[in-house]
Amino acid sequence: MKTNKQNADFLHIGKKLTKWYDTNARQLPWRENRNPYNIWISEIVLQQTQVKQGLGHYLRFIERFPTVKELHQASEDEVLLYWKGLGYYSRAINLHKASHQIVAEFNGAFPNHYNDILKLKGIGKYTAAAIASICFEEKIPAVDGNFYRVLSRIFADDFDISGSKAFQYFSDLALRMMPDKKPGEFNQAIMDIGSEICRPKNPLCLFCPVNEDCIAFQTGRIAEFPVKTKKTKVSDLSLKYFFVKHKNQFLIKQRGNDFIWKKLYEFPTSVPEKWNDYIINSKIISHKLTHKNLSIEINVVEIDSEKEFETFEKENNFLSVGKTEADEKSFPKPLQTFYESLFQN
Ligand code: SF4
Repeated sequence: MKTNKQNADFLHIGKKLTKWYDTNARQLPWRENRNPYNIWISEIVLQQTQVKQGLGHYLRFIERFPTVKELHQASEDEVLLYWKGLGYYSRAINLHKASHQIVAEFNGAFPNHYNDILKLKGIGKYTAAAIASICFEEKIPAVDGNFYRVLSRIFADDFDISGSKAFQYFSDLALRMMPDKKPGEFNQAIMDIGSEICRPKNPLCLFCPVNEDCIAFQTGRIAEFPVKTKKTKVSDLSLKYFFVKHKNQFLIKQRGNDFIWKKLYEFPTSVPEKWNDYIINSKIISHKLTHKNLSIEINVVEIDSEKEFETFEKENNFLSVGKTEADEKSFPKPLQTFYESLFQN
């Protein structure tokens, strides 16, 4: 029984993981070839989304934008539209910006070194390492939450994953395990094991290729790892909207590029005071973002006078839309769900 990290054979464990991947890799469309564009899009789609939910979105996105060229030629609005339903729209805005960078700075060819990939908008160390290792065989660990969990359990390592030094610490640890050949397979093995086997709760240790080497498993201490002392800070935020409608038309405006929900469409946030008398319905919706708990008040304001509606629209640069036109814009999820529910009745 292995009970001590000092005695662990790092490379041996790394090779076991890579070998396991050869015959157990998940069959995923972006793994059919080593095209960096496809790997890039898949990694960004899957940043906050499970494979099951992200797969359809990935396929639709790739069908419409099969290469950097099509993504670069598309308008930002269209890219946002193809991101609809995935949330965290700044990822789509960054994908679009990065496609412009690739054309301007790399002659339209996806960069083939970690340091260059890292220069692209929206690509952090994890994604750059994933692309560089899978597509260009660079020996760089793609360290994320999966790595923290799997490695801290294998070595029963109590290094605090909430500290700023965790990334470097687990990168160094992973490098000791990483075989010279097939670095991409090593990274993907940990991605797959982290999501399918060494799950946060109820890990399937009996199916794990390194269960004989895993100190946490062998000593019955899995629940102790990973060690995380600081909790992510979540703050409360209240928002107020007015869903201003006249017959089947309602008013919307595109948000700016700061704060939450960048470049998405929203309803008016204020109306003339006398319109408070026109409110026919109010609703409070709760919605969670990564670092914020939102409480969203939406007041439905029904305007009978076309002239009054149009004047307000023009003076405030709103857009008057019906449901079909709204469906072609991108809204934050709770606002979209709200207007869709009104049109169902
Ligand atoms: S044996 Fe269990 S705890 Fe250890 S790495 Fe495998 S799945 Fe994770």
